Amino acid sequence: MNMKIARFLADHQPATPCLVLDVDRVESNFRRIRDALPLAQIYYAVKANPAPQILDRLVKLDSRFDAAGIEEIDACIAAGAAPGAISFGNTIKKVSAIRRAHAAGVGMFAFDSDEELEKLAVHAPGARVYCRILVENEGADWPLSRKFGTTVAHARALMLRAEGLGLDPFGLSFHVGSQQTSTGSYEAAIAKVAMLFTDLRDAGVNLRMVNLGGGFPVRYRDEVPGIDAFADAIMGAMVEHFGNALPDMLIEPGRSVVGDAGVVSAEVVLVSRKGDDPVRWVYLDIGRFGGLAETEGESIKYQFSTAHDGGPVGPVAIAGPTCDGADIMYEKSNYRLPLALTHGDRVELLATGAYVTTYASQRFNGFAPLAEHYI
Ligand SMILES: *Cc1c(COP(=O)(O)O)cnc(C)c1O
Repeated sequence: MNMKIARFLADHQPATPCLVLDVDRVESNFRRIRDALPLAQIYYAVKANPAPQILDRLVKLDSRFDAAGIEEIDACIAAGAAPGAISFGNTIKKVSAIRRAHAAGVGMFAFDSDEELEKLAVHAPGARVYCRILVENEGADWPLSRKFGTTVAHARALMLRAEGLGLDPFGLSFHVGSQQTSTGSYEAAIAKVAMLFTDLRDAGVNLRMVNLGGGFPVRYRDEVPGIDAFADAIMGAMVEHFGNALPDMLIEPGRSVVGDAGVVSAEVVLVSRKGDDPVRWVYLDIGRFGGLAETEGESIKYQFSTAHDGGPVGPVAIAGPTCDGADIMYEKSNYRLPLALTHGDRVELLATGAYVTTYASQRFNGFAPLAEHYI
């Protein structure tokens, strides 16, 4: 575990469950991504963790921001971000949010449908817009898949309409799915978007930008390729398909900026067995409703650390503290924890800085939302 976080936990013994996040680690992650992809503009995906301490630090590093909603836009501006450095990346936006974002000077807007394009034309006249295309999410542990994006043929028709509606047809985007472990998924998506890009340029549309989305993985229980492997694949594919005429390149990393900067500290509430079944059930004071929503389908497999590590281990199922049958994190993923583990012990869930605090429910079963410490 990160030394700074380990020291904070030892010195302060904060009440559990809580997230402790090292903001310096956010900075070093951001710098590593920027160094790996110097030609890309980085739009931090705010939804991964919108804590003001993180936004403040990223503003200082000249990051730009991908916002999912008007509240996130407000938070970025409050942290000192220039409105023009914010992209409204959600393809599903209320008219009231579009109007406020446009009035604030937000730099660009995503869309993937005729109706959203028409909303933008009316409520954000003249805005830079980009169309999201549907790409394969294979290889992603947390796919975004069919909810967002449209077909190449439809995107082409939409982009041809945009200028006539008084909008600036700025570019194209995709997202290969979150916690994407395959570099090939970016290569395939770039090939697809490049073909459409060239086709639209030939048709006279003044496209200037390709937005490669987020998706870069974090090391949880299993090893993943590093950012350099993704950067090599991305730059290789960009040069292959665009040659020297590279468009503006945007990336929107969320998880890979904040994920491994945070640790959740939790307490074991109970260890039990069902008869003589060898599998112990370990109940923690955090679960699916306390912020660990990405354990849905056992998709994201967090790594655990305990004071008994190094001793003998045995199979476990790991569940949360609520009276809800769905509040089980892992039953099928072959987790093994120390046999010495017992109620009152603290356990740490590593790399939980992304997509945890904001997923915590409000007072389900009376439990307070997850406490947060930014150090
Ligand atoms: C969620 C999201 C991201 C961030 O994805 P990560 O996998 O966390 O990097 C980026 N762009 C858009 C449009 C998103 O919806």
